[in-house]
Amino acid sequence: MEKLIITVAPTGSVPGKRDTPHVPLTPDEVVADCQECVAAGASICHLHARDESGAASTRYDLFEAMVAGLTAHTPAIVQISTGGRAGSGLEERAERLGLRPEMASLTTGSVNFPEGVYLNPRDLVEALAERMLQLGIKPEMEIFDASMVQGAIDLVARGLAVPPLHCNFVLGLRGALPASAKNLLHLVELLPAGSTWTVSGIGRAQLPMAAQAILMGGHVRVGLEDNLYYAKGVLARNVELVRRVVRLAGELGRPVATPEEAREILGLPARAG
Ligand code: ZN
Repeated sequence: MEKLIITVAPTGSVPGKRDTPHVPLTPDEVVADCQECVAAGASICHLHARDESGAASTRYDLFEAMVAGLTAHTPAIVQISTGGRAGSGLEERAERLGLRPEMASLTTGSVNFPEGVYLNPRDLVEALAERMLQLGIKPEMEIFDASMVQGAIDLVARGLAVPPLHCNFVLGLRGALPASAKNLLHLVELLPAGSTWTVSGIGRAQLPMAAQAILMGGHVRVGLEDNLYYAKGVLARNVELVRRVVRLAGELGRPVATPEEAREILGLPARAG
């Protein structure tokens, strides 16, 4: 079986210091947190920016500081979110792609989020995909529902994405597809041959979905963006969530990929220098 790629999503758009003191918000905090996680076995860092008030932000300088810090201090693959919670227009979501991270997230359809509709109309999805293609950024397709897999396949058919696809199945978010082994298996079966996938279980689904993915040959995303708790009533630190996946993978006989091995699995060019 392929080595296991662990992605850490340390921040997201939602949790604040009131929810957990462990969520990194400033670029310095995010970089320091990711350094720990990468040393523990994460090979992709999935980034959102927050402004000085802690609110989700589209500001270029914040993303720039995180990308520069991570590139200087870790060998990790940097993956920028193009999610719309911080600002929903095309330019607001696309400007940060100018930093040319190795990867960026791309949600291929609309879905109900707990706080409202997460709108990803087709013209916006295609414009983001085209921008990534032009800049040589590999998209991670964010899949909240089965129809979004088809959305990703359609991008390839239209020449707006290059196969093989890499999909992240986000399961267990209220309003979207529930986290179950059956749903995960169904999504995996929809993928074209040669695709790679990872899973983000939301909340208490994070651990069981991670275990499923390790066994099924998929990859795993953990972090406070998706789940604040290590166990019932016990707040997690990102590095603890990464370490737990590393231990589980070890017990189950699945070696963990280094960032360089993750690049090879995902078809990304080796990092220069
Ligand atoms: Zn995200």
